[in-house]
Amino acid sequence: MNYLFAPPVPASVAIAGESVRFPVRRIFCVGRNYAAHAIEMGSDPERDPPFFFTKPADAVVDSGSTVPYPPQTNDFHYEIELVVSIGRAGFDIAEDKAVDLVYGYGVGIDLTRRDLQQAAREQGRPWDWGKAFDLSAPCAPLHPIGKTGELTGGGIWLDVNGHRRQQADIADLIWNVREVIAILSKSMRLQPGDLVYTGTPAGVGAVVAGDRITGGIDGLGTIEIEIGEAR
Ligand code: MN
Repeated sequence: MNYLFAPPVPASVAIAGESVRFPVRRIFCVGRNYAAHAIEMGSDPERDPPFFFTKPADAVVDSGSTVPYPPQTNDFHYEIELVVSIGRAGFDIAEDKAVDLVYGYGVGIDLTRRDLQQAAREQGRPWDWGKAFDLSAPCAPLHPIGKTGELTGGGIWLDVNGHRRQQADIADLIWNVREVIAILSKSMRLQPGDLVYTGTPAGVGAVVAGDRITGGIDGLGTIEIEIGEAR
């Protein structure tokens, strides 16, 4: 195949303890998946069906990176999240088979231009400009499920400049990983390389240039990014 110009190198995420990287195909994100965060965002915490938005695959950023303060926002937020990576294709997968699709897990941050997201929400417009911008999906090295086992609980936390901002447990997910995969796979054929950011707990807030964000999930290590000056 000949292309007009060299196709971009696939976006990818590191794998803990491996030299090979996980190529990223698509990034799906669950809109709200912890009751306390739904409440802080002014939404109903009831168990409505989950909804999804997406980010471009090349929004992924390695842990340890500096993320420049993005354009067009004055309210740039962190959201710590459990990331599930898909290693096998599947469509309309039952909950009891959903875990078969999982390659592994990671710690991610769903960076958000909250002012743009909220303006879009109020006007009934798409969330893309609030969520799907450059470098908006930091992700720490993935841990294969063969090593961790199925993850159904464990602490999840985020600090800004060493101060705790988010603290919850994966077991508090309104829709757990099996359910999210089952529901998502009714609308899309999941494919190897897909990432699913499963939603953030309460405590989201704004950061500015110079802030250092660290976060972690029990058994999955930590993530660290620094917010740089706007480009
Ligand atoms: Mn999120």
